[in-house]
Amino acid sequence: MSDRRALLRTLPAIDLLLCTPLLAELEQTQPHILIREAAQKTVDDLRQQLLDEQAMLPDLDLGAVASLVAIRVAELAKPSLRKVINVTGTLLHTNLGRAPLCSDALQAITEISQGYSNLEYDLDEGQRGKRFTHVEELICKLTGGEAATVVNNNAGAVMLTLAALAGGSSAVVSRGELIEIGGSFRIPDIMAASGVGLIEVGTTNKTHLKDYAEALGSETALILKVHTSNYRILGFTEAVSGEDLAVLAHQHEIPVLEDLGSGLLMDLTPYGLPREPTVREALKTGIDLVTFSGDKLLGGPQAGIIVGNRDVIDKVRKHPMARALRIDKLTLAALEATLRLYLDPQKALEQVPTLKMLSLPVAELQQRCETLLPRLMEVIGEAADCTIIEAAATVGGGALPLTELPGQVIALKPKEMSLNVLTTRLRSCEPAVVGRIQNDQFLIDPRTLNNDDKELLLLALKQAFNPGQDH
Ligand SMILES: *Cc1c(COP(=O)(O)O)cnc(C)c1O
Repeated sequence: MSDRRALLRTLPAIDLLLCTPLLAELEQTQPHILIREAAQKTVDDLRQQLLDEQAMLPDLDLGAVASLVAIRVAELAKPSLRKVINVTGTLLHTNLGRAPLCSDALQAITEISQGYSNLEYDLDEGQRGKRFTHVEELICKLTGGEAATVVNNNAGAVMLTLAALAGGSSAVVSRGELIEIGGSFRIPDIMAASGVGLIEVGTTNKTHLKDYAEALGSETALILKVHTSNYRILGFTEAVSGEDLAVLAHQHEIPVLEDLGSGLLMDLTPYGLPREPTVREALKTGIDLVTFSGDKLLGGPQAGIIVGNRDVIDKVRKHPMARALRIDKLTLAALEATLRLYLDPQKALEQVPTLKMLSLPVAELQQRCETLLPRLMEVIGEAADCTIIEAAATVGGGALPLTELPGQVIALKPKEMSLNVLTTRLRSCEPAVVGRIQNDQFLIDPRTLNNDDKELLLLALKQAFNPGQDH
């Protein structure tokens, strides 16, 4: 005990550590503030280690401690937000950033962000312009809407439209549509936060037109329809069509708003997705306004798109919250570039990564597995059993929860290592690799694996199965 305490006095002083050749040289490339923090934390840890009777006696040699500091500096200097290789097979993984962007979008971001742009400047007139004009016409062309505007995300779009159209009064919603989606977006709470009273009608499984009709009074300013994007009510069910809601609302001279969630711009049933109304079809029913996300099945950047009748859109634009939720120029650049691809649906299918991944034929997935498998066995050797099996991918992002996209994946079963150790090691690689575990196997789904990342994936697996080796 006293021996260990006596050693406390030999812990190196911070200033002395900073003068060691290793750390002095590190000052050339790394911020002083990080090196000092790393030195302080390292010495604090060594002190704890000395005080802990169970711990091994640390090496307190100045050079050895400096090496520990250098390792810590490297950790601190790593960016927090970094690349992940997604082999989960979940296309719109909300935790992994949802939709990857198409190359046109990346190019637009680079060009617009490196210098100045006509973000809010009308180049024809030489005077102030509006930022939403860059995408309004495109959105209208693609959806048949009269007018459109865009905000930060769809949650913001719903809040803004609710506040603008029914703030201070009430909106009618079916009990079957009072949804919660991830990240604390719950319709009743969103309505309360927007200053809109909630009038619930119908039941969980059935709501009839007369339920809406009976609820409409002088206090009701809006009918809200919500797409139940992340669950399904099956069996004895009934919901009221957009057409019927529009007729009813317009008899009462109020608008109908539909939150579509994902918002399809084209029919994706040929690629195994269930039949869902496109934005164009939703508007055709007579509904006044629809909102949807930019980074779900559209495959663009995070954004909330609002499209519909001009007079209603005008009201939305004038609401003070519109300024608080305004879209950023990088997002706008990416959104315009992505939407432009949709003018030619074939081009969108080929170039928008989300659509491309969605429409991959099983034969192509099998081909990818067969190409990857021998390379994988090369780096892993005898450390795991590797096989190609059938497994379904999912859309994710709260969209189409029941839809399974059939495909083939590589299944790894480590012989010595636990799956927990394997996934932890893969997450600490650079770039990190995130996959899924099913039936005691680690699955690598080629559907969400970008071809350019294949070598990086192999390298990560090599490191995970052979830790401590130089690579
Ligand atoms: C995803 C979703 C939202 C939220 O959209 P964000 O773009 O994530 O803000 C709102 N409503 C529905 C029905 C959704 O599916």
